[in-house]
Amino acid sequence: MNGYGGQILRVDLTNGKFSKELTSVELARDLIGGRGFGIYYLLKEVPKGADPLGPENKMFISTGPMSGMLMPGGGKCDWTTKAPLTGGYASASLGGHFSAEMKYAGLDMIILEGVSPKPVTLFIDNDKVELRDASDIWGKRTIAVEKMFKEKLGEEYQIAVIGPAGENLVSYACINHDYGRQAGRGGVGAVMGSKKVKAIVIHGTGSIPVADPKAYREAGLALYKACKESAGLKDWTRYGTVITEIWCNDVGALPTRNFSEGFFEGSNGLSGPTMREKIVVTDKGCFGCPSPCGKYSRSKKYNSYVEGPEYETVGLMGSNLGIGDIEAVAQANLLCDEVGIDTITAGNAIGWAMECYEKGILTKEDTDGLDLKFGNVEATFTMIEKIARREGLGDLLSEGVKRASKKVGKGSEKFAIHVKGMEQSGYATHNATSMLLAYMTCDVGAHHNRAWSITYDIQVGREKVTPEKVARVVWLQNFRPMFDVLGGCRLQWVELGIDRELYPPAFEAITGIHRSWEDMEKVGERIWNLTRMYWARENEGFGREWDMPPQRFYQEPPKTGSNKGQITKLEDVNRLLDIYYEQRRWDSNGLPKPETLEELGIQELVA
Ligand code: SF4
Repeated sequence: MNGYGGQILRVDLTNGKFSKELTSVELARDLIGGRGFGIYYLLKEVPKGADPLGPENKMFISTGPMSGMLMPGGGKCDWTTKAPLTGGYASASLGGHFSAEMKYAGLDMIILEGVSPKPVTLFIDNDKVELRDASDIWGKRTIAVEKMFKEKLGEEYQIAVIGPAGENLVSYACINHDYGRQAGRGGVGAVMGSKKVKAIVIHGTGSIPVADPKAYREAGLALYKACKESAGLKDWTRYGTVITEIWCNDVGALPTRNFSEGFFEGSNGLSGPTMREKIVVTDKGCFGCPSPCGKYSRSKKYNSYVEGPEYETVGLMGSNLGIGDIEAVAQANLLCDEVGIDTITAGNAIGWAMECYEKGILTKEDTDGLDLKFGNVEATFTMIEKIARREGLGDLLSEGVKRASKKVGKGSEKFAIHVKGMEQSGYATHNATSMLLAYMTCDVGAHHNRAWSITYDIQVGREKVTPEKVARVVWLQNFRPMFDVLGGCRLQWVELGIDRELYPPAFEAITGIHRSWEDMEKVGERIWNLTRMYWARENEGFGREWDMPPQRFYQEPPKTGSNKGQITKLEDVNRLLDIYYEQRRWDSNGLPKPETLEELGIQELVA
């Protein structure tokens, strides 16, 4: 199959057995790869009501036709599972070099099923597959484990590893790779931990067949040329994703003190220029990337090195905790990476606890004596470790803010910043209606990367609620995640502004199949509807209520910043949903209508 590894590796952890099956040509035609394969198998193979941390849940690691190919951003793979954090759909994208090795080992997907009786490492070297005893590295931190494997086996081996947080089933444990890349959201690391898989080590040397090598070379070169000639390349490479921090503060979208504000007075200490000047040592990218957004940094204060921080960590571990010191954020980033927790949810959970503490809902008795005020750097470091060990208050926070606030009560639910149980990523949305809608309707919970529409809000009028705004969100949700289906990175299109029409010729040269973006957006729409049906299948009573945003964003106007005093109204929130459901051809409760599923040709997949 041109553009594919051609095989799926199934790992039965319970019995220590492996099998391989051919990648389905029909599935590749209908859902292409990556997230598309993930949701198909999740619906088909994980039974309704499965415990996310039990033996019935599975992990689906899938590449796409762009993965491992010589084209910008061809270094991504998708990790799909039932999410321990939300009880719904989890799909986390991983950059770095893992996906390329999977393809070179001939694999389009790895399925982890069952539970191993003891800690293991899944070792894959081309056709050789083994489960190796990992008792000696169980309990170890991620970077140490990765280093150990690289030293032992060689730099060409790629490693995905969980830390103590994954082993301890922290519901937002992540998977680390390449020392600083993560499959971050939803608790994919806890699923690995529940299966007793400490690490996956992979190496491949095979080649991937392409339909038209000459056209592939030309299309790849055209994409690289567009990236290299982009006016945005210099600043993007210099600052990476932190390039947006100043802008976010200027427009009142920088998450500040548990999203109570969108403006942080200490923002300068966290900006891209400050970071570059104070801590960045060099740039680091994923496989084949001409625009490396990764920043490898050194903190003199803490005598440590880390890949990062990127914008989300700066927002959530910095301003959201009232911390304006980039070195402290870099150190918090390192600790999260080492123990293996998602910095976005961790920043939210600690921010929520800080607000509880300042409001007297949590006291020193609850914090084991920690003065958990906003801005307390040492308390933040301590909480990261406690979350990973599930110790004291860390145990409560290890469940995420939805469950933690439910347990604590006393009105703390009002400032638990999540949608569907997933904590909101780095944009405060007090009055940015399309971005608010993007969070409300995102298919994994309050995550930004499906439809990053906040710039559109600023462009057309942030408070407006119009069909055009909603249509923008719907279009982005159908289009942007297609990069996760293709196994590629969207950031060259987003940040360098390269013409998206350069991608279909590359896709055609690789696979031999002609596809326009309109055609691929249809695939995106199918996947969006499948993920929605998965939520409905797994959660009784799922519907409109699940799409409601945190009250803060329609009840508490920010007191500072350029959008001071402005707030979206509840009636606007409801109108956004009404228009959104109509445009999606869903019913008024937010469920796909039978005729919509039929029209998309997916009714049998969700029957
Ligand atoms: Fe990886 Fe960043 Fe390059 Fe995308 S832009 S491929 S995330 S380094």
